[in-house]
Amino acid sequence: MVFVNGCFWHMHDGCKYAVLPQSNADYWIPKLQANRERDEANRKNLEQSGWRVITIWEYEQK
Ligand SMILES: [Zn+2]
Repeated sequence: MVFVNGCFWHMHDGCKYAVLPQSNADYWIPKLQANRERDEANRKNLEQSGWRVITIWEYEQK
């Protein structure tokens, strides 16, 4: 199972593309936080069902 996450929508840690908008922060923070929590819950469920979960980031850079 491979997920390709958009850096912004999934709040990629430490990524320059995962920057909160300056405006409407009250709107964006809970929304993006909920996305992250959903990602985490999905990943745990899949792993418990025996899937190996790989996350690829949209703008992965090393
Ligand atoms: Zn990223």
